[in-house]
Amino acid sequence: MKKNIYNFPISSCPHCGGGKIAIRQYICGYGEYYVDLKTGDVDTAELHSGLQYRNTGKYAVCADCGRRLFEVDRHLHVIEE
Ligand SMILES: [Zn+2]
Repeated sequence: MKKNIYNFPISSCPHCGGGKIAIRQYICGYGEYYVDLKTGDVDTAELHSGLQYRNTGKYAVCADCGRRLFEVDRHLHVIEE
C-alpha cells in the first residue's frame, strides 16, 4: 500500500465511515482540443493543461456524506487549532 504523505487526523469519516475527502477547487482558464482534419479524431489530451486550479476549500469534507471533517491549507496540510 502506498504511504500517505499527509498527516490526516482520521482515516475514515466518523459520521458515515467513508474513506475519501473532497477539497473544493476554483478552476478557470481556456482549453483547446484538436480534431484531425482527415479522420475526425478528437484529441483532448491538452484540454486542461492551461487551466488554473485554486484551492478554495478550507475544509476537507467527507466525499460521501458532505460533513466537514477538518481544516486544511492549500497543500493539504492539516491546520491544527
Ligand atoms: Zn461521511
